Amino acid sequence: MITEYHRPQTLEEALKLLSAPNTRPLGGGTGLTHPSDESFAVVDLQALSLDRVHKFGKHLEIGAIVTLQSLLESAHSPTALKTAIELEAPLNLRTMGTVAGALVTCDGRSPFAVVMLALDAQLTVDDEQSIVYGLGDLLPIRHELLKGKLITKIEIPLQTKLSFETVARSPADKPIVCTALAQWPSGRTRLVIGGWGKVPTLAMDGNEASGVEAAARNAAHDAADQWASAEYRSAVAAVLAKRCLAIIES
Ligand SMILES: Cc1cc2nc3c(=O)[nH]c(=O)nc-3n(C[C@H](O)[C@H](O)[C@H](O)COP(=O)(O)OP(=O)(O)OC[C@H]3O[C@@H](n4cnc5c(N)ncnc54)[C@H](O)[C@@H]3O)c2cc1C
Repeated sequence: MITEYHRPQTLEEALKLLSAPNTRPLGGGTGLTHPSDESFAVVDLQALSLDRVHKFGKHLEIGAIVTLQSLLESAHSPTALKTAIELEAPLNLRTMGTVAGALVTCDGRSPFAVVMLALDAQLTVDDEQSIVYGLGDLLPIRHELLKGKLITKIEIPLQTKLSFETVARSPADKPIVCTALAQWPSGRTRLVIGGWGKVPTLAMDGNEASGVEAAARNAAHDAADQWASAEYRSAVAAVLAKRCLAIIES
């Protein structure tokens, strides 16, 4: 339950407020307003000018409180990222939920997190200092690491080729298996598999694309849960990875 509400006008003021115990950043509030036995204060980020999508050079800088829908509508967003955002949440949630909030609350079924991890998204986290974390490093430790801190922006590369493929019970459902493949002009290739677990799985980060099918199959070798067996996910992940590669190479 939210017991206190603050709306700071500066980042410094926000960070000072967040240093108090039981105080959390408020993005779109779609997760934080769920009924809870916990009592906590919230620091609303909407006055901090963190709501811009800005292209500079070969990168896209996304403010922490950019909504999923704004990123979906940005002319700079890669098509595969837009597809993943559409699957992430329905329109009403997308217009409120923020990019930072979505990554803090995501699990391994999140299409948005799968694509952002394939792009090797870099998150700027502020407290007294500003530190940049790769999404892959941050995700497993996000809940401990972010105490008293704030994600202020997220950066993704724009020069990569990107593809995203998915299998689900219905076209709008969260995927049972999904794969995202990003390839840099240098040949660097990252493959991420999602659809189960606490975080998406980085299956490959190499200098070239050979071996993506085997990497996908191996990454899902123990991915059993109530939605699918590991054998099924392994087989499907390999097929989706092959499709992703064909799209990138076409
Ligand atoms: C009906 C309904 C269905 C939902 N279904 C799903 C679902 O299927 N899967 C799912 O993952 N979520 C689901 N959610 C939760 C929620 O919609 C998403 O996780 C959403 O993207 C969270 O974004 P937000 O900006 O609203 O975050 P908030 O609710 O504002 O915050 C969520 C968490 O992120 C932290 N946070 C927010 N911004 C920052 C920041 N800049 N820096 C550091 N920490 C930050 C908050 O402190 C909080 O701990 C659902 C919500 C609703 C209402």
